[in-house]
Amino acid sequence: MRAAVLALQGAFAEHERILEDMGVEYMEIRQEKDAYQDFDALILPGGESTAMGKLLRDYHLLHILKEKIEKGLPVLGTCAGLILLAKQLTDGTPHLATMPVTVKRNAYGRQLGSFVTEADMKGIGRTKMVFIRAPYIVEAGEGTEVLAQVDGRIVAVRYKKQIGLSFHPELTDCRHIYEMLFHI
Ligand code: GLN
Repeated sequence: MRAAVLALQGAFAEHERILEDMGVEYMEIRQEKDAYQDFDALILPGGESTAMGKLLRDYHLLHILKEKIEKGLPVLGTCAGLILLAKQLTDGTPHLATMPVTVKRNAYGRQLGSFVTEADMKGIGRTKMVFIRAPYIVEAGEGTEVLAQVDGRIVAVRYKKQIGLSFHPELTDCRHIYEMLFHI
């Protein structure tokens, strides 16, 4: 089992720390040749989706990663990572566009941009969730399973082997979510 973490920008080090603690081997994806290596799961971190999307294109990573995901590579997208996976954004151009969901960026507004709460997550149970200028899922398309909602808004979904979260499991050490990815 080897995980890959997209390490272009954002909170990739926090995911790596959890993988280390879990004893999971991992590599970083920073340039095109990294994406051609063999790995069993991919983590797309939080950060700034516009910047990550630009770097994915500039470094010729977008198409190779999209193809791997479409062929069944398990992937976990957190926050900006969820935005990268979405087929549709309420505002802006999609990036990897592998998950049939519509995502609204910075959806909680500036005032309520960051908060912590707890909600039930399917297959996991009560889960602490940290939101930072978070997106939420406005519409989950055919084949997607809603895993969690907060105040009636979808914040976690699964589509085939793709998991998308509005929140940051790497900040709460929520290993169950990583286990879910590795056993998907
Ligand atoms: N607001 C960021 C974006 O649109 C996402 C925030 C995050 O990843 N914490 O990319």
